[in-house]
Amino acid sequence: MITNDDMTVELNINPLTNWLTDKKIPLVIAGPCSAESEEQMLATARELVKNQKISYFRAGIWKPRTRPGSFEGIGVEALRWMQSVKEETGLKVATEVANTDHVEACLKHGVDLLWIGARTSVNPFSVQEIADALKGVDIPVAVKNPINPDLQLWVGALERINKAGINHLMAIHRGFSSFERSPFRNQPLWELPIELKSICPHVPILCDPSHIAGVRKLIPFISQKALDMDMDGFMIEAHINPSAALSDAEQQLTPKALDDLLSNLIVRLATVKDEEFKTQLDDLRSLIDALDEEITQKLSSRMQIAEKIGEYKKEKNVTILQVKRWENLIADRLSAATAMGLSEEFMRGMLKLVHKESIRRQTEVMNKQEE
Ligand code: PEP
Ligand code: MN
Repeated sequence: MITNDDMTVELNINPLTNWLTDKKIPLVIAGPCSAESEEQMLATARELVKNQKISYFRAGIWKPRTRPGSFEGIGVEALRWMQSVKEETGLKVATEVANTDHVEACLKHGVDLLWIGARTSVNPFSVQEIADALKGVDIPVAVKNPINPDLQLWVGALERINKAGINHLMAIHRGFSSFERSPFRNQPLWELPIELKSICPHVPILCDPSHIAGVRKLIPFISQKALDMDMDGFMIEAHINPSAALSDAEQQLTPKALDDLLSNLIVRLATVKDEEFKTQLDDLRSLIDALDEEITQKLSSRMQIAEKIGEYKKEKNVTILQVKRWENLIADRLSAATAMGLSEEFMRGMLKLVHKESIRRQTEVMNKQEE
């Protein structure tokens, strides 16, 4: 992870409350991952507009897919569907841009907000190209964090867009890709948006719980956490028929589920928030919370692997407890832990607890298979 305590960043930001015409905070941008058809867009938007908390309708038109062969978006034609959504529902519309052509097409078709995706904000050439295309244009722009946890790259992208004269500027926290197993599609690593807030205090930060969670059931947890972290709003994927979606089907909510989610979130009072977040103690506590959450994620991943090992041992008829392996593991972990400044007593106690739980989970797996 790349952070920098001494980094100073001058951004000229126009506060959300100055330019958001409907003044709805937290700001909510919602809509399908991808524009698929005019019917899908209109049917989704007609339901979403009933929810008074939504300010912008989103839909991806050019889809940056990790591997070729999946649905790569409709392209320019879908911009007409965006216009229909706008005319019929009155919702403002937003889409992702990755190059000059995209920016020009969006401006020609009256798109109200542009965002730069995680696979684009990672590349300063692309971000600069977009910034150049935006010179002299007055439009809100949101910059998603780059897929890798590099705070400077995220800040650099915000600076490039800001230098082009865009001061209706926001950041979107959509999590970070990782090779490690995790319950999340993209690891939240909350310490990064917290650091962003401390070096660029005026930049509004939205959370994209859809791309962090990757699955519907984790979206409420991430969303509440974002509000507790003082974030300014959300970008959330919603689709009229999520299971039939051509991209990100697992993580999209129906408009009704989104309505329920937004109604159940607890928004803290601004005065309480400001006072709390002014103190250094609260910043440090937020970092501790973020680290504890990472430890929890790692423990969850570790236990899942322990269960897999249990299945394997069962198949090969091997005993659960392997004393030699356990002795080696303890010695190895203790030497690493003491080198990192942890006490041997603490680490030994913690490993024992973890090991006990692993054995319990493996035993459970074996018993289940025997039934
Ligand atoms: C999206 O918003 O659909 C998208 C592609 O997001 P990200 O750039 O965060 O992956
Ligand atoms: Mn998506």
